[in-house]
Amino acid sequence: MRSAMVATPLLDIRGLTVQVDGPAGPVTLVDSFDLALAAGDRVALVGESGSGKSVMARSVLQLDPDVALSGSIRLGGSELLSSGEAELTRVRGGRVGMVFQHPMGALNPLQTIGRQIAEPLLLKGVPRRTALNRARELLDELGVDRAAQRLRAYPHEFSGGMRQRVVLAMALIGEPELLIADEPTTALDVRVQQQVLSLLDDVCRRRGLAVLLITHDLGLVAGFAERVVVMYAGRKAEERPVRPLYAQPAHPYTSGLLRAVPRIDRETQRLASIPGVPPTPSARPAGCAFHPRCEVRVDRCSTEIPRPRALEHGVAACHLLGDDAEARP
Ligand code: SF4
Repeated sequence: MRSAMVATPLLDIRGLTVQVDGPAGPVTLVDSFDLALAAGDRVALVGESGSGKSVMARSVLQLDPDVALSGSIRLGGSELLSSGEAELTRVRGGRVGMVFQHPMGALNPLQTIGRQIAEPLLLKGVPRRTALNRARELLDELGVDRAAQRLRAYPHEFSGGMRQRVVLAMALIGEPELLIADEPTTALDVRVQQQVLSLLDDVCRRRGLAVLLITHDLGLVAGFAERVVVMYAGRKAEERPVRPLYAQPAHPYTSGLLRAVPRIDRETQRLASIPGVPPTPSARPAGCAFHPRCEVRVDRCSTEIPRPRALEHGVAACHLLGDDAEARP
């Protein structure tokens, strides 16, 4: 079911399915996924490891050559799934910037920081001095001190938080309309996490950028995103604006994730965890993939895949919503 929350999408993903070859046939990593972002939207894609959120996000830029994609991914009205490599290269680092979880993996240890930030402009034929000036301005804006000297430094000379700023500068130098940030703070300590997230918040607001923030941490996104999409086992479990989702989660999986988030506005309490572990893509249970871990499951949950149902705000896929709401234990 399409989200009614976006009038004119900048990014419009419909029925995206991502599969990879397995020993016993195709394995589905992402199943019939819909997502729409308008210009300036701030959306968080949340789920545990293995939920398919990173695979889904990387599929927008077709970064994984070994997967088969079907469905539709439109950016500003143009279909990316039928675009050639030349067009995709223009989109990557151009209209869409990407920030990865491990900045060291995104940086070339043998090249100076300046060269790496400026590269998208150099590839477009921008003169070297102009491109390096732009790189310096971006490092300044992102709070890297002595930016002019740091352009000549190498990645190993930077701390983790500073490297993430460099990666953010690389993503911003092409003046993107959409930034995809894949767990941008996971590899950092808690104090630096907050600094990087508020920096991301600032620069994206100033530019009016649409942001898709991928994270396993629902607590992290409360002050950042306007809308949250919860993913489980390759499918969308729930999509709603932040306030109603936090106040009254519709899907049992979202409830479980929220119970595991520490709250500073409540008395000290034991944090609850969701029992069990998420299934691997090649061993997903029949019916609702969450049913072996769901404390409120009913008989049909183990045989029927729940379809997304429209709620007052957003959608959620659970048999206990909509027509069957009264049956909820
Ligand atoms: Fe739980 Fe059933 Fe809803 Fe799945 S469909 S979340 S198993 S109640």
